[in-house]
Amino acid sequence: MLSKPNKFTAKPPEPPAVEEKKTRSSALVKAQSSYYKKNKTKITEKQMEYNKTYNKLKYTCPCGLVVSNCSKYNHIRSKRHIKRMEHLTNQENKFK
Ligand SMILES: [Zn+2]
Repeated sequence: MLSKPNKFTAKPPEPPAVEEKKTRSSALVKAQSSYYKKNKTKITEKQMEYNKTYNKLKYTCPCGLVVSNCSKYNHIRSKRHIKRMEHLTNQENKFK
């Protein structure tokens, strides 16, 4: 016996579900794979060009130093960067 949901049988509102991973629809997957097959050389060339230029681009750190993109990750964890940031925060606190 199934009864219509009333105020006694109705479930309490469920908490918002955790964001599910967005999956591509099968049609989109097909379209993207066919596009990639058609333009594979073009895409790989562009990717290669970007990879070559990426490391040459400069990144200006909030500590004031200019480093290349490839050394950015190492710089942020370096003693030099940490000391500079400490110095900067100390200076800011002095003027307050
Ligand atoms: Zn830095």
